[in-house]
Amino acid sequence: MMTVFDLYELQEYIEDCTACELHEGRLNPVVDKGKITSRIFICGMVPAKEENEKGIPFVGRAGQLLDVILEKLDLTLSDVYITNLVKCFLAAGQPLKEEWVDACLPFLLAQIAVANPKVIITLGADAAAALIGKEFDTISKNRGREFKFQNGTVVIPTYHPSYLLRQGGEKSPNFETVLNDFRIAINTSERSQ
Ligand code: SF4
Repeated sequence: MMTVFDLYELQEYIEDCTACELHEGRLNPVVDKGKITSRIFICGMVPAKEENEKGIPFVGRAGQLLDVILEKLDLTLSDVYITNLVKCFLAAGQPLKEEWVDACLPFLLAQIAVANPKVIITLGADAAAALIGKEFDTISKNRGREFKFQNGTVVIPTYHPSYLLRQGGEKSPNFETVLNDFRIAINTSERSQ
C-alpha cells in the first residue's frame, strides 16, 4: 500500500505506467487537484483532451460545470479532493474498457487509502460501479444513496457533469438533483466528523 510520501510520487508512477493501452494517448498523467486531507473525495471517470494537455483533472467544460456546482455549495478546492477513476486520456465518446479500469484501480485505491475521506462522491456510472461493485445498479436508481465502502467511508453516486452538459448544463433537469446529491454528501461528511 502506498504511503502519503509515495502519493507525492504518484505523478511519476503514472507517467511511466504502461499497464494498459491508454498510455499511448497520454501527454500528461492526470492525477488530482484539491486537498488530499479533505473529508469529501470526488471521483470522475477519465481525463479528456484539455486534462490530457494540462495534466490537471476537470479543467475542460465538464470541469467548469463542476466548478459552478462547488461554488453554489460554497465549496472551494480546499474543501475537496478531485481525481478520476482512470488516469490517462480517453477520446470523447469512447466507452471505458473493464481491463483499463482494472489496471488503473490500484492508483485510485491508493489515493483513497491516503485520503481516508468521509465521503466519496462518484460522478457517472463507471466510478460508482468500480467502487460499489455488484450492489450498484444505475445512476438514476442509485444516485444520492449512501453505500458503505471501507473504514467508515461512504460512497454517494451522482450524475457526471458531462451528462449534465448534454442536457444544457445548468439548465439540465438533473442539475438541481446533482446539487442535492452533493448536499447529502456534505451533510454525511459533517455528521460523521
Ligand atoms: Fe497505467 Fe492507468 Fe494510464 Fe492505464 S490508464 S496506462 S493503468 S496510469
